[in-house]
Amino acid sequence: MALQVTGLVKHFAGVRAVNGVTMTVQPGECVALIGPNGAGKSTLFACIAGQQKLTTGTVWWNGQRVDPLQPAQRLKHGIARTFQVARTFEALTVLQNVQLLTQYSRGLAAYNILEDGNTARARMLLERVGLLELALTQAKVLPYGAKKRLELAMALAGLHGIGETNARSIPAGPQMLLLDEPAAGLAATERTQLMDLVKSLTRPQADRRGIAVLYTEHNMDAVFGYADRVLVLIDGLVAAQGSPQDIAADSNVRERYLGHWWEPGRAAEQCHA
Ligand code: ADP
Ligand code: MG
Repeated sequence: MALQVTGLVKHFAGVRAVNGVTMTVQPGECVALIGPNGAGKSTLFACIAGQQKLTTGTVWWNGQRVDPLQPAQRLKHGIARTFQVARTFEALTVLQNVQLLTQYSRGLAAYNILEDGNTARARMLLERVGLLELALTQAKVLPYGAKKRLELAMALAGLHGIGETNARSIPAGPQMLLLDEPAAGLAATERTQLMDLVKSLTRPQADRRGIAVLYTEHNMDAVFGYADRVLVLIDGLVAAQGSPQDIAADSNVRERYLGHWWEPGRAAEQCHA
């Protein structure tokens, strides 16, 4: 088992953002977390990756309890994430943003030696996300879709064995990517390319296990075309989970989120418009 979340509760003052979630993600599994705005998806991510402290409950990773750990420590254990609103270093170039993350274990010292190391790996990661041509562009002028792809490259830079040829970099344990609306703001072809890339990461390679992926998405093509399993979060609780086919046919999920008129190819929230 890679990720095991047990009885996770997160309250903000009177707001019950996450209300008792128990879930797992296996190595190599691609799991979509869907649900209406305000359901608690981003908060659950923040509790798993460490940006938020749990009110109660536990997060286990690879057999170890990680909820008391800081985000950087969780990243060292192989849990990387992206944010719903892309977070990049605006004054740096696209390449420098990735170089900063390839050297994150040096802390702030990495900032002084950005250009010194890992250029080949950083460029390889940019190629993976289709941003190599923009390597020397400042992040602040990137269109939003390109920023989301840059953020994915930065998250991958924090993991091991991706874009690396060095045998020492082979990871000992499983690794996980948490992607909060990775395809939001992307055009349809960009979305397909990005989701194809995400899916490819879950497949085992000669030198590493398949990465566990948990992602949120409102675009149902990106959910039903890619997820091995779908978790539906409503009002901070897992309302349903199962195969994409089971979830698409679940009358409770259609009633409360997808909409009775929903059909594959439509964003669920378009059905409520
Ligand atoms: P989702 O990602 O599913 O749209 P969120 O996790 O962002 O949902 O939000 C769940 C609920 O928690 C919402 O009611 C939101 O307003 C509230 N919430 C999220 N973050 C905070 C915060 N830092 N402080 C107070 N309330 C928050
Ligand atoms: Mg969110």
